[in-house]
Amino acid sequence: MNKIWKIGIVVVLIAAVAIVIINKQMGSSPGTDADKGTAQVSQPAAGLPRLLDLGSVSCIPCKMMAPILEELKKEYAGRLQVEFIDVMANPDAGAPYKISLIPTQVFFDASGKERFRHEGFFSKEDILAKWKELGVDLSAGAPAQASQTSAGPTFSRMEPAKADDRPKTAICHLCDGDINPKTLVVVKSAKGDVRLCGPHCYFILYSCLTEDKTDFEKKVSVADWADGAAVPATTAVYLYGAEEKKTGRPTIKAFASREAAEKERQASGGNLLTWNVLQEKELAARCGFCDRAVYPQDAARVDTADGIHTWGCCSHCALGVAARTGKDITIYQPDRLTGEMIVVKTAGGNVASLEPKTAVAWFGLRKAPDGKFVSAGCFHQGFFVNEDNLKKWVEQNPTATGKAISIAQALADKMKLTAQQIQKACKIGECAPK
Ligand SMILES: [Zn+2]
Ligand SMILES: [Zn+2]
Repeated sequence: MNKIWKIGIVVVLIAAVAIVIINKQMGSSPGTDADKGTAQVSQPAAGLPRLLDLGSVSCIPCKMMAPILEELKKEYAGRLQVEFIDVMANPDAGAPYKISLIPTQVFFDASGKERFRHEGFFSKEDILAKWKELGVDLSAGAPAQASQTSAGPTFSRMEPAKADDRPKTAICHLCDGDINPKTLVVVKSAKGDVRLCGPHCYFILYSCLTEDKTDFEKKVSVADWADGAAVPATTAVYLYGAEEKKTGRPTIKAFASREAAEKERQASGGNLLTWNVLQEKELAARCGFCDRAVYPQDAARVDTADGIHTWGCCSHCALGVAARTGKDITIYQPDRLTGEMIVVKTAGGNVASLEPKTAVAWFGLRKAPDGKFVSAGCFHQGFFVNEDNLKKWVEQNPTATGKAISIAQALADKMKLTAQQIQKACKIGECAPK
C-alpha cells in the first residue's frame, strides 16, 4: 500500500469514529432539550447566501466558532444569512445535513444550493476567502431592507432644546419623571439613596436586578401619603386606587397607619393591600424582551405566531421579542403623542407589514460620560404614526434627545444582538441602582 492510500484509510476511520460518537450522543440527548435547542433554522431568505454551522455548545472547536459566527452575522447582516444548529440539543434539525464531524460549516449560495462544506474549526478569514473563491460577493448587492432603511427618516435632535434644571433629588432614577414627595420611594444602596417616583418604578427596578434579592425590601422605604414621612416599605398599607384617567394606571398611595389608609379609601375608593400582595400584582406582567415589570395598560401588546401573548415595556423592547424568541410577532403599540394604534408584523426578522405605513420610531439616545451616544433606555423610546407626530412630541419634550429611525431599522438593530446581549438586556445601565 502506498502512503497516501494509508492516510486515506486513517481519515476514513477517524470520520467513522466521529459518526458513531455523534449518533450515540444524539440518541442519549433528552427529548426536552430539543425544544430548547439554540437552532434558529429558518427558510433561506430569498436571494441571500447562507452559512450554516452545525456543532454543539460543548465541543471546543465549536465554541471557537461561536464568536466568528456572531461577527459574520453582524458585519454581513442583510447580505449573508448565518445560522447555527446545536446538533446535540437538537438532533432532528441537524439530521438532514448528514454530517460526520462537528463543527461542520455548510455554504449555500443565494439559490439555496450547497456549494461547499468544511469540517472542523474554520477561521473568519478562511470563511470569507471561501465565499470569494465560490464567486459570492458579500460586499455588493445591498439588500432591499437596507436601501429601505437608508431612505428612512432623517430627523434628529442630539442636544436638548432645554437643559434639565430640576434638582437631582426631584428626578426619578428610573423614568426621569418628577418625584411627587407624597409617593417617593427610596432604596438604600452602597452608592447612596436611589430615589423613585413611586412603587411602580421601584418594582421595575426590582424586576431587573440580577443580584441576590433576599431581604432587598429591607432597604426600601416609602413616603406616607398623609404626611410624607418615610415608612419601611414592608410595613406600610397600600391603597391601590382607581385608574388614572390619562394613563389608565392604578394610583398607589402608602400609609403608615391602617386607619389613615381606610379613611382615604372611603374618600377615594380602591383596595387596601399589603406589601406582598402589591408586589405580586406589580410583578405579574413582564416585558417579553427585558423582563421588566409592566402595566398592561401602557405596554405594547405582542403576539407570537404560535399564539403566545406577551408585552413590550417599550416599542423597541416589543420588537426585541422577535429577536429573543426567534418567532414572527405582531406588535400593537400606541403612538406616544396621540395614542393611535400602530401595528407591526414581522416575518423572519424583517418587517412584513406596517400599519399605518407612515409609522416611524424614535430612538432615544443620551450622551454617555465618554461622549458617545447610547440608548436612553426604555422610557425614552416610542413609535409614532408619522414623522410629524414624532416632531411634535419631541417639541413637547425639550429634554428628549435621539433620532427618528424607520421601524425596519429599529427591528434590524434588535435582530443584530447576540444571545448574550439579549440575555442581559436592560439588566445593565439604567435599571440597577447606581
Ligand atoms: Zn419613575
Ligand atoms: Zn422591556
